[in-house]
Amino acid sequence: MSDLAVADVPDYSLADEIIARLDRVLPADNGPYALHEPKIGGNAWDYVRDCLDTGWVSSAGAWVNRFETMLTEITGSAHAVATVNGTAALHTCLLLVGVQPGAEVLVPSLTFVATANTVRYCGAEPHFVDCEATSLGVDPAALDVHLAATAERRDGLCVNRLTDRPIRALVVMHCFGHPARMDALAEVAERYSLALVEDAAESLGSCYAGHHTGHIGRVAAISFNGNKTVTTGGGGAILTDDPVLAARARHLTTTARLPATDAVAHDLVAFNYRMPNLNAALGCAQLEQLAELLASKRRLAERIIEAFDGCEGARVLREPEWGRSNYWLNALILDPSHAAERDIVLHALNDAGYQCRPFWTPMHDLPMYAASPRAPLPVTDRMAASGINLPSGPGLI
Ligand SMILES: *Cc1c(COP(=O)(O)O)cnc(C)c1O
Repeated sequence: MSDLAVADVPDYSLADEIIARLDRVLPADNGPYALHEPKIGGNAWDYVRDCLDTGWVSSAGAWVNRFETMLTEITGSAHAVATVNGTAALHTCLLLVGVQPGAEVLVPSLTFVATANTVRYCGAEPHFVDCEATSLGVDPAALDVHLAATAERRDGLCVNRLTDRPIRALVVMHCFGHPARMDALAEVAERYSLALVEDAAESLGSCYAGHHTGHIGRVAAISFNGNKTVTTGGGGAILTDDPVLAARARHLTTTARLPATDAVAHDLVAFNYRMPNLNAALGCAQLEQLAELLASKRRLAERIIEAFDGCEGARVLREPEWGRSNYWLNALILDPSHAAERDIVLHALNDAGYQCRPFWTPMHDLPMYAASPRAPLPVTDRMAASGINLPSGPGLI
Protein backbone atom coordinates (compact mmCIF):
# COMPACT_ATOMS: atom_id res chain seq x y z
CA MET A 1 0.00 0.00 0.00
CA SER A 2 1.40 3.43 -0.89
CA ASP A 3 1.49 6.28 1.59
CA LEU A 4 -1.07 8.05 -0.54
CA ALA A 5 -3.55 5.17 -0.21
CA VAL A 6 -3.16 5.17 3.56
CA ALA A 7 -3.77 8.90 3.69
CA ASP A 8 -6.91 8.42 1.61
CA VAL A 9 -8.57 6.18 4.20
CA PRO A 10 -11.09 8.51 5.82
CA ASP A 11 -11.18 8.97 9.58
CA TYR A 12 -14.00 7.25 11.38
CA SER A 13 -16.95 9.65 11.41
CA LEU A 14 -19.13 9.01 14.41
CA ALA A 15 -21.80 11.33 13.00
CA ASP A 16 -22.01 9.31 9.75
CA GLU A 17 -22.05 6.07 11.68
CA ILE A 18 -24.90 7.24 13.92
CA ILE A 19 -26.96 8.53 11.00
CA ALA A 20 -26.45 5.25 9.09
CA ARG A 21 -27.66 3.24 12.08
CA LEU A 22 -30.64 5.50 12.74
CA ASP A 23 -31.54 5.29 9.05
CA ARG A 24 -32.16 1.54 9.47
CA VAL A 25 -34.97 2.33 11.93
CA LEU A 26 -36.18 5.70 10.67
CA PRO A 27 -35.24 6.04 6.98
CA ALA A 28 -33.87 9.53 6.39
CA ASP A 29 -35.83 9.71 3.13
CA ASN A 30 -39.09 9.53 5.07
CA GLY A 31 -38.13 12.28 7.52
CA PRO A 32 -37.95 14.75 9.05
CA TYR A 33 -38.61 13.18 12.44
CA ALA A 34 -39.66 15.35 15.38
CA LEU A 35 -38.18 14.76 18.84
CA HIS A 36 -41.56 13.97 20.36
CA GLU A 37 -44.92 14.80 18.85
CA PRO A 38 -48.18 13.85 20.52
CA LYS A 39 -50.40 11.25 18.90
CA ILE A 40 -53.99 12.40 19.20
CA GLY A 41 -56.57 9.78 18.36
CA GLY A 42 -59.26 7.54 19.77
CA ASN A 43 -62.03 9.44 21.51
CA ALA A 44 -60.15 12.74 21.76
CA TRP A 45 -62.44 14.70 19.45
CA ASP A 46 -65.63 13.27 20.99
CA TYR A 47 -64.57 14.00 24.54
CA VAL A 48 -63.32 17.52 23.83
CA ARG A 49 -66.47 18.23 21.79
CA ASP A 50 -68.53 17.17 24.79
CA CYS A 51 -66.87 19.93 26.82
CA LEU A 52 -67.53 22.47 24.09
CA ASP A 53 -71.13 21.36 23.57
CA THR A 54 -71.97 21.41 27.27
CA GLY A 55 -69.98 24.53 28.12
CA TRP A 56 -68.07 22.67 30.88
CA VAL A 57 -64.64 23.82 29.79
CA SER A 58 -63.09 25.08 32.99
CA SER A 59 -62.05 23.76 36.38
CA ALA A 60 -65.31 22.08 37.31
CA GLY A 61 -66.66 19.20 35.31
CA ALA A 62 -66.93 15.46 35.10
CA TRP A 63 -63.85 14.84 32.93
CA VAL A 64 -61.45 15.95 35.67
CA ASN A 65 -62.87 13.40 38.10
CA ARG A 66 -62.86 10.73 35.45
CA PHE A 67 -59.25 11.54 34.53
CA GLU A 68 -58.21 11.25 38.18
CA THR A 69 -59.97 7.91 38.56
CA MET A 70 -58.26 6.58 35.46
CA LEU A 71 -54.90 7.70 36.85
CA THR A 72 -55.45 5.84 40.13
CA GLU A 73 -56.32 2.71 38.16
CA ILE A 74 -53.24 2.99 35.95
CA THR A 75 -50.73 3.92 38.64
CA GLY A 76 -52.15 1.97 41.57
CA SER A 77 -51.88 5.11 43.71
CA ALA A 78 -54.88 5.54 46.00
CA HIS A 79 -55.29 9.22 45.08
CA ALA A 80 -54.60 11.40 42.06
CA VAL A 81 -55.13 15.18 41.97
CA ALA A 82 -55.02 16.74 38.50
CA THR A 83 -53.22 20.07 38.08
CA VAL A 84 -52.56 22.68 35.38
CA ASN A 85 -49.09 21.30 34.69
CA GLY A 86 -46.36 19.09 36.11
CA THR A 87 -44.49 22.03 37.61
CA ALA A 88 -47.57 23.00 39.66
CA ALA A 89 -47.91 19.36 40.76
CA LEU A 90 -44.29 19.24 41.90
CA HIS A 91 -44.54 22.60 43.68
CA THR A 92 -47.58 21.30 45.54
CA CYS A 93 -45.78 18.03 46.40
CA LEU A 94 -42.97 19.98 48.07
CA LEU A 95 -45.46 22.03 50.09
CA LEU A 96 -47.26 18.82 51.09
CA VAL A 97 -44.11 17.32 52.62
CA GLY A 98 -43.39 20.54 54.53
CA VAL A 99 -40.68 22.26 52.50
CA GLN A 100 -40.47 25.74 53.99
CA PRO A 101 -38.44 28.91 53.46
CA GLY A 102 -34.85 28.49 54.57
CA ALA A 103 -34.74 24.74 54.06
CA GLU A 104 -32.73 22.76 51.54
CA VAL A 105 -34.03 20.05 49.24
CA LEU A 106 -31.78 17.46 47.61
CA VAL A 107 -32.46 17.32 43.87
CA PRO A 108 -30.59 15.87 40.90
CA SER A 109 -28.59 18.37 38.88
CA LEU A 110 -29.33 16.43 35.69
CA THR A 111 -33.01 17.27 35.30
CA PHE A 112 -35.48 19.65 33.71
CA VAL A 113 -35.35 23.07 35.36
CA ALA A 114 -38.76 22.67 37.04
CA THR A 115 -37.28 20.25 39.59
CA ALA A 116 -35.03 23.01 40.96
CA ASN A 117 -37.41 25.93 40.36
CA THR A 118 -40.18 24.43 42.46
CA VAL A 119 -37.79 24.27 45.42
CA ARG A 120 -37.20 28.01 45.06
CA TYR A 121 -40.97 28.62 44.72
CA CYS A 122 -41.15 27.31 48.31
CA GLY A 123 -38.47 29.77 49.41
CA ALA A 124 -36.06 26.86 49.86
CA GLU A 125 -32.72 26.09 48.26
CA PRO A 126 -31.94 23.20 45.93
CA HIS A 127 -28.93 21.13 46.94
CA PHE A 128 -27.68 19.25 43.90
CA VAL A 129 -26.69 15.60 43.90
CA ASP A 130 -25.16 13.33 41.27
CA CYS A 131 -26.75 10.71 39.03
CA GLU A 132 -25.51 7.26 38.15
CA ALA A 133 -24.69 6.21 34.60
CA THR A 134 -27.08 3.23 34.32
CA SER A 135 -30.43 4.98 34.73
CA LEU A 136 -29.34 8.63 35.02
CA GLY A 137 -31.33 8.70 38.27
CA VAL A 138 -29.93 9.94 41.60
CA ASP A 139 -27.02 7.73 42.67
CA PRO A 140 -27.87 6.35 46.14
CA ALA A 141 -24.28 5.37 46.97
CA ALA A 142 -22.86 8.79 46.05
CA LEU A 143 -25.72 10.45 47.93
CA ASP A 144 -24.92 8.42 51.02
CA VAL A 145 -21.23 9.36 50.88
CA HIS A 146 -22.12 13.02 50.39
CA LEU A 147 -24.57 13.13 53.28
CA ALA A 148 -22.08 11.36 55.56
CA ALA A 149 -19.60 14.14 54.76
CA THR A 150 -21.93 17.15 54.97
CA ALA A 151 -25.07 16.37 56.95
CA GLU A 152 -25.93 15.39 60.48
CA ARG A 153 -29.06 14.52 62.43
CA ARG A 154 -30.13 17.12 65.00
CA ASP A 155 -33.35 16.64 66.96
CA GLY A 156 -34.72 14.29 64.33
CA LEU A 157 -33.90 16.69 61.51
CA CYS A 158 -31.24 16.38 58.86
CA VAL A 159 -29.04 19.50 58.87
CA ASN A 160 -26.41 20.66 56.39
CA ARG A 161 -23.35 21.26 58.60
CA LEU A 162 -21.88 23.76 56.14
CA THR A 163 -24.95 25.99 55.77
CA ASP A 164 -26.73 25.13 59.02
CA ARG A 165 -29.98 24.79 57.10
CA PRO A 166 -32.34 21.84 57.53
CA ILE A 167 -32.48 19.43 54.59
CA ARG A 168 -36.16 18.52 54.37
CA ALA A 169 -36.60 16.33 51.36
CA LEU A 170 -35.05 14.31 48.58
CA VAL A 171 -36.56 14.63 45.11
CA VAL A 172 -35.71 11.80 42.75
CA MET A 173 -36.47 11.96 39.04
CA HIS A 174 -37.02 9.08 36.64
CA CYS A 175 -34.86 10.36 33.82
CA PHE A 176 -36.25 9.96 30.29
CA GLY A 177 -38.69 7.43 31.80
CA HIS A 178 -36.10 5.07 33.29
CA PRO A 179 -36.93 4.27 36.91
CA ALA A 180 -34.34 5.35 39.49
CA ARG A 181 -32.97 2.92 42.12
CA MET A 182 -35.85 3.48 44.49
CA ASP A 183 -35.18 0.95 47.26
CA ALA A 184 -31.67 2.19 47.92
CA LEU A 185 -32.79 5.83 47.64
CA ALA A 186 -35.71 5.25 50.03
CA GLU A 187 -33.30 3.67 52.50
CA VAL A 188 -31.00 6.71 52.48
CA ALA A 189 -33.98 9.06 52.76
CA GLU A 190 -35.31 7.11 55.73
CA ARG A 191 -31.95 7.06 57.52
CA TYR A 192 -31.61 10.84 57.19
CA SER A 193 -35.28 11.65 57.91
CA LEU A 194 -35.79 13.12 54.44
CA ALA A 195 -39.25 13.21 52.88
CA LEU A 196 -39.03 11.28 49.62
CA VAL A 197 -40.70 12.98 46.64
CA GLU A 198 -40.78 11.49 43.14
CA ASP A 199 -40.58 13.76 40.14
CA ALA A 200 -42.33 11.23 37.92
CA ALA A 201 -43.06 13.90 35.29
CA GLU A 202 -41.48 11.76 32.57
CA SER A 203 -42.41 8.30 33.78
CA LEU A 204 -46.12 7.62 33.27
CA GLY A 205 -46.21 3.92 32.46
CA SER A 206 -42.77 3.18 33.96
CA CYS A 207 -42.45 0.70 36.80
CA TYR A 208 -39.98 0.08 39.58
CA ALA A 209 -39.93 -3.51 40.84
CA GLY A 210 -43.40 -4.15 39.48
CA HIS A 211 -45.02 -1.00 40.87
CA HIS A 212 -45.80 2.10 38.89
CA THR A 213 -43.30 4.90 39.53
CA GLY A 214 -44.52 7.39 42.12
CA HIS A 215 -45.45 4.69 44.58
CA ILE A 216 -42.44 4.67 46.87
CA GLY A 217 -42.21 8.38 47.61
CA ARG A 218 -44.76 9.99 49.91
CA VAL A 219 -45.96 12.02 46.97
CA ALA A 220 -45.19 12.14 43.27
CA ALA A 221 -45.76 14.53 40.37
CA ILE A 222 -46.58 13.58 36.77
CA SER A 223 -46.58 15.87 33.73
CA PHE A 224 -48.96 15.79 30.76
CA ASN A 225 -47.17 18.47 28.76
CA GLY A 226 -47.39 18.29 24.98
CA ASN A 227 -44.10 16.42 24.63
CA LYS A 228 -44.69 13.84 27.35
CA THR A 229 -45.89 10.27 26.81
CA VAL A 230 -49.53 11.25 27.41
CA THR A 231 -50.65 14.84 26.96
CA THR A 232 -53.55 16.99 28.09
CA GLY A 233 -52.18 19.99 26.19
CA GLY A 234 -50.75 21.17 29.49
CA GLY A 235 -51.37 19.31 32.68
CA GLY A 236 -50.05 17.40 35.63
CA ALA A 237 -51.09 15.29 38.58
CA ILE A 238 -50.13 14.63 42.17
CA LEU A 239 -50.11 10.98 43.25
CA THR A 240 -50.23 9.75 46.82
CA ASP A 241 -51.55 6.88 48.92
CA ASP A 242 -52.05 9.17 51.91
CA PRO A 243 -55.67 10.40 52.16
CA VAL A 244 -54.71 13.37 54.34
CA LEU A 245 -52.09 14.55 51.85
CA ALA A 246 -54.54 14.02 48.98
CA ALA A 247 -57.18 16.17 50.66
CA ARG A 248 -54.58 18.84 51.34
CA ALA A 249 -53.39 18.67 47.73
CA ARG A 250 -56.95 19.26 46.56
CA HIS A 251 -57.30 22.22 48.93
CA LEU A 252 -53.97 23.81 47.96
CA THR A 253 -54.64 23.47 44.23
CA THR A 254 -58.13 25.02 44.41
CA THR A 255 -57.27 28.32 46.14
CA ALA A 256 -58.02 26.77 49.56
CA ARG A 257 -61.67 27.56 49.06
CA LEU A 258 -63.86 26.45 51.94
CA PRO A 259 -66.73 24.08 51.17
CA ALA A 260 -69.66 25.80 49.50
CA THR A 261 -71.67 27.90 51.90
CA ASP A 262 -73.22 31.29 51.38
CA ALA A 263 -69.78 32.84 51.70
CA VAL A 264 -66.89 32.63 49.28
CA ALA A 265 -64.06 32.12 51.72
CA HIS A 266 -60.53 30.69 51.83
CA ASP A 267 -58.36 29.68 54.76
CA LEU A 268 -54.88 29.82 53.20
CA VAL A 269 -52.87 31.64 50.57
CA ALA A 270 -53.08 28.85 48.03
CA PHE A 271 -53.01 28.28 44.28
CA ASN A 272 -55.24 28.14 41.24
CA TYR A 273 -53.63 24.93 40.02
CA ARG A 274 -56.67 22.79 39.15
CA MET A 275 -56.70 21.16 35.72
CA PRO A 276 -59.49 22.47 33.45
CA ASN A 277 -62.16 20.06 32.22
CA LEU A 278 -61.18 20.68 28.58
CA ASN A 279 -57.68 19.35 29.23
CA ALA A 280 -58.95 16.43 31.27
CA ALA A 281 -61.27 15.37 28.44
CA LEU A 282 -58.27 15.10 26.11
CA GLY A 283 -56.40 13.33 28.91
CA CYS A 284 -59.10 10.66 29.27
CA ALA A 285 -58.92 9.87 25.56
CA GLN A 286 -55.11 9.73 25.75
CA LEU A 287 -55.11 7.45 28.79
CA GLU A 288 -57.48 5.07 26.99
CA GLN A 289 -54.67 4.70 24.45
CA LEU A 290 -51.83 4.44 26.94
CA ALA A 291 -51.09 0.76 26.32
CA GLU A 292 -50.87 1.43 22.59
CA LEU A 293 -48.67 4.51 23.04
CA LEU A 294 -46.32 2.61 25.35
CA ALA A 295 -46.12 -0.36 23.00
CA SER A 296 -45.22 1.91 20.10
CA LYS A 297 -42.53 3.70 22.10
CA ARG A 298 -41.06 0.41 23.31
CA ARG A 299 -41.00 -0.96 19.76
CA LEU A 300 -39.10 2.11 18.56
CA ALA A 301 -36.64 1.97 21.50
CA GLU A 302 -35.96 -1.73 20.95
CA ARG A 303 -35.28 -1.18 17.28
CA ILE A 304 -32.92 1.70 18.03
CA ILE A 305 -31.09 -0.38 20.65
CA GLU A 306 -30.73 -3.18 18.15
CA ALA A 307 -29.51 -0.83 15.41
CA PHE A 308 -26.81 0.58 17.70
CA ASP A 309 -25.55 -2.80 18.85
CA GLY A 310 -21.74 -2.73 18.64
CA CYS A 311 -21.59 0.92 17.62
CA GLU A 312 -18.10 2.25 18.18
CA GLY A 313 -18.15 5.43 20.26
CA ALA A 314 -21.75 5.56 21.48
CA ARG A 315 -24.32 3.60 23.45
CA VAL A 316 -28.09 3.83 23.75
CA LEU A 317 -29.52 4.19 27.23
CA ARG A 318 -31.68 1.19 28.06
CA GLU A 319 -34.07 0.39 30.84
CA PRO A 320 -32.31 -0.71 34.03
CA GLU A 321 -32.67 -4.31 35.21
CA TRP A 322 -34.67 -3.17 38.26
CA GLY A 323 -37.59 -1.74 36.35
CA ARG A 324 -39.54 -1.10 33.21
CA SER A 325 -39.18 2.12 31.27
CA ASN A 326 -41.80 3.94 29.23
CA TYR A 327 -38.89 5.00 26.96
CA TRP A 328 -40.13 8.56 27.00
CA LEU A 329 -37.04 9.96 25.27
CA ASN A 330 -34.44 7.78 23.62
CA ALA A 331 -30.95 8.78 24.62
CA LEU A 332 -27.58 8.27 23.00
CA ILE A 333 -24.50 8.67 25.17
CA LEU A 334 -21.15 9.20 23.46
CA ASP A 335 -18.11 7.49 24.88
CA PRO A 336 -15.72 9.83 26.71
CA SER A 337 -13.25 9.55 23.81
CA HIS A 338 -15.92 10.97 21.46
CA ALA A 339 -17.63 13.45 23.80
CA ALA A 340 -15.85 16.39 22.18
CA GLU A 341 -17.76 15.60 18.96
CA ARG A 342 -21.16 15.88 20.60
CA ASP A 343 -22.20 19.13 18.91
CA ILE A 344 -20.89 17.98 15.52
CA VAL A 345 -23.01 14.82 15.82
CA LEU A 346 -25.98 16.85 16.99
CA HIS A 347 -25.83 19.23 14.03
CA ALA A 348 -25.33 16.39 11.56
CA LEU A 349 -28.37 14.56 12.95
CA ASN A 350 -30.55 17.65 12.76
CA ASP A 351 -29.33 18.36 9.21
CA ALA A 352 -30.23 14.79 8.25
CA GLY A 353 -33.82 15.31 9.45
CA TYR A 354 -33.56 13.79 12.92
CA GLN A 355 -34.69 16.39 15.43
CA CYS A 356 -32.33 15.80 18.34
CA ARG A 357 -31.20 17.86 21.29
CA PRO A 358 -28.52 17.74 23.94
CA PHE A 359 -29.43 16.69 27.48
CA TRP A 360 -30.41 19.58 29.75
CA THR A 361 -27.70 21.93 30.92
CA PRO A 362 -27.16 20.72 34.49
CA MET A 363 -28.86 22.86 37.12
CA HIS A 364 -25.59 23.76 38.83
CA ASP A 365 -24.43 25.40 35.59
CA LEU A 366 -27.48 27.70 35.36
CA PRO A 367 -26.91 31.27 36.60
CA MET A 368 -29.70 31.23 39.19
CA TYR A 369 -28.27 28.11 40.83
CA ALA A 370 -24.56 28.88 40.51
CA ALA A 371 -24.23 29.41 44.27
CA SER A 372 -26.46 26.54 45.40
CA PRO A 373 -24.95 23.80 47.55
CA ARG A 374 -23.92 20.67 45.74
CA ALA A 375 -22.29 17.29 46.00
CA PRO A 376 -19.46 16.39 43.63
CA LEU A 377 -21.17 15.96 40.25
CA PRO A 378 -18.74 14.06 37.99
CA VAL A 379 -21.30 11.75 36.38
CA THR A 380 -23.77 14.59 35.80
CA ASP A 381 -21.04 16.64 34.11
CA ARG A 382 -19.98 13.71 31.94
CA MET A 383 -23.52 12.75 30.93
CA ALA A 384 -24.58 16.33 30.23
CA ALA A 385 -21.57 16.79 27.95
CA SER A 386 -22.05 13.58 25.99
CA GLY A 387 -25.81 12.96 25.78
CA ILE A 388 -28.17 13.35 22.83
CA ASN A 389 -31.92 12.74 22.86
CA LEU A 390 -33.19 11.06 19.70
CA PRO A 391 -36.65 11.20 18.05
CA SER A 392 -38.98 9.24 20.32
CA GLY A 393 -42.62 10.03 19.56
CA PRO A 394 -45.28 7.32 19.69
CA GLY A 395 -46.25 7.82 16.04
CA LEU A 396 -42.84 7.21 14.47
CA ILE A 397 -43.08 3.47 13.76
C1 LIG B 1 -41.77 17.96 32.06
C2 LIG B 1 -41.10 17.96 33.38
C3 LIG B 1 -41.57 18.70 34.48
C4 LIG B 1 -42.61 19.75 34.39
O1 LIG B 1 -43.77 19.45 33.78
P1 LIG B 1 -44.63 20.60 33.02
O2 LIG B 1 -45.92 19.89 32.80
O3 LIG B 1 -43.91 20.92 31.76
O4 LIG B 1 -44.77 21.74 33.94
C5 LIG B 1 -40.94 18.55 35.70
N1 LIG B 1 -39.91 17.72 35.85
C6 LIG B 1 -39.41 17.01 34.82
C7 LIG B 1 -38.26 16.12 35.07
C8 LIG B 1 -39.97 17.12 33.55
O5 LIG B 1 -39.44 16.44 32.54
